[in-house]
Amino acid sequence: MVQTNSSLPSDFIRDIIEDDMKTNKYQGRVATRFPPEPNGYPHIGHAKSICLNFGIAAQYRGTCNLRMDDTDPTGESMEYVNAIIRDVKWLGFDWEERLYYASDYYEKLYQYALQLIKMGKAFVCSLSADEIRQYRGTFTEPGKESPYRNRTIEENLDLLERMRAGEFPDGTHVLRAKIDMASPNITMRDPVMYRIKKETHYRTGDAWCIYPMYDFAHCLSDSIEGITHSICTLEFENNRPLYDWFLDELEVEHQPQQIEFARLNLSYTIMSKRKLLELVERKLVNGWDDPRMPTISGMRRRGYTPEAIRSFCERIGVAKNDSIVDMALLEHCVREDLNERAPRVMAVLRPLRVVIDNYPEGRVEEFECPYHPKNTAMGSRKVPFSRELYIDADDFMENPPKKFYRLSTGREVRLRYGYFIKCVRAVKNERTGEVVELRCTYDPETRSGFAPDGRKVDATIHWVSALHALPAQVRLYDRLFRVADPLTKESDMTLSLDPKSLEILRSCQVEPSMAAAISGSLYQFERVGYFCVDSVDSSDKALVFNRTVTLRDAWAKITEKGK
Ligand code: ATP
Ligand code: MG
Repeated sequence: MVQTNSSLPSDFIRDIIEDDMKTNKYQGRVATRFPPEPNGYPHIGHAKSICLNFGIAAQYRGTCNLRMDDTDPTGESMEYVNAIIRDVKWLGFDWEERLYYASDYYEKLYQYALQLIKMGKAFVCSLSADEIRQYRGTFTEPGKESPYRNRTIEENLDLLERMRAGEFPDGTHVLRAKIDMASPNITMRDPVMYRIKKETHYRTGDAWCIYPMYDFAHCLSDSIEGITHSICTLEFENNRPLYDWFLDELEVEHQPQQIEFARLNLSYTIMSKRKLLELVERKLVNGWDDPRMPTISGMRRRGYTPEAIRSFCERIGVAKNDSIVDMALLEHCVREDLNERAPRVMAVLRPLRVVIDNYPEGRVEEFECPYHPKNTAMGSRKVPFSRELYIDADDFMENPPKKFYRLSTGREVRLRYGYFIKCVRAVKNERTGEVVELRCTYDPETRSGFAPDGRKVDATIHWVSALHALPAQVRLYDRLFRVADPLTKESDMTLSLDPKSLEILRSCQVEPSMAAAISGSLYQFERVGYFCVDSVDSSDKALVFNRTVTLRDAWAKITEKGK
């Protein structure tokens, strides 16, 4: 991304706004909106749109509305409305009192439809859905006019009223705009404005059985709210002439302009609400807030912070061509934020018992350990040390290969914040041959972490005191899909799911200071990764942690290579 001198982002949308400010196009006003349809939980793609719309409003001292674009009764619900509200707020944005619902505009939209009929610009069409498709033509051939196109205004008014009154079954009639069946832009070939759908709407109940189409409802909702810049994704580019057509024909007071930008695509995940719903419904994940989901609620539960997500959205910027962003960049943004804010503690995920033979039985020392190596304001805590410890099984190897510098028989390492210990003997399970315990000695002279005689060790490992440590469950989350492009790779995305995307470790041991850990709080487990206290399943009695992200930064590696 090009870095400018100013810390404010700059892109083609902001350029358009700057120009509009100069020409006083909207009397210097900037009004945007974020218009989700409440038919699923918001995901990271929505976060891009949220950051863009609210970010622009803040930058130009304008306003950004939150509007539920709820014009289709199928699949919409209050549960989704609540999820959207929670997530936008959590991301750090404020719509003040401007929470709107397109469903509140149904009567107004209907009046606009009547107006278009009276102007001879809309008609009730009684072709079937299939016939409408056939009449529409193709990219290379013009469409054919509907035989119902020349119904009289009176007939159209009468039919629309009866459609609204529920006289006709679904699919028998639609209201269409009368534009141009020969237009090179297929969107302009007498598009449908209303269809009959005898379904109960989560807000309007059974008050309506005709529902407006997106193209008709969206531009007018924008206009009703006095939106100036209606920012949407690229797939609506062909719909822009239609957006303008409704506003021009109806001579509305506010004429917003639609601006399209490239939607966010992210590798190793999917962004379609329909597909995400399928994962939830088929129980391939544990709900919308499963920490592997690309949803805001999943990311929150995983331990991603609003700051990290906002920083990611700013870094990817906005462009006019579609691309796929590397998941490693999002993870990098998370690491960058957690590196600053997460206190560092010790936790042993796969415990191996260590007995220090020359350490007095019953003796306990307390080491004062800082929570952060750079940020002293984060303070410190006391970590108890005693004769029996747990270390991570990975930190010991009986027959170490050349580059393994950690513990093995006869070798000495440093314990983080503490003594040097030397492994004397590995105790094995006689039957399985598995190493179950290490007998070690410690050097009392190395309390400072250094040996007075200047001898060096090659590794420092983390540990907890066996007597004092708390048991915990740790959920190791990884990317949900094995492949970068799950939707194009296989016809069935479920074939690309990674069965190892969740590994549950049930016998972890964490340092005793974690007894005070609050739901959702974030930690770095030294040498292991970033973790958060699970906000759903963790309790005082049973600690549960989610792995937010590992310490290995693939993105930093990529960018270093590029230098
Ligand atoms: P649907 O398939 O249901 O239309 P949608 O992802 O477009 O799904 P909406 O609720 O209509 O969902 O989206 C709300 C807003 O978020 C829209 O303005 C849309 O353009 C934007 N948006 C949706 N997905 C992305 C994405 N991947 N990247 C950027 N913006 C997105
Ligand atoms: Mg949409």
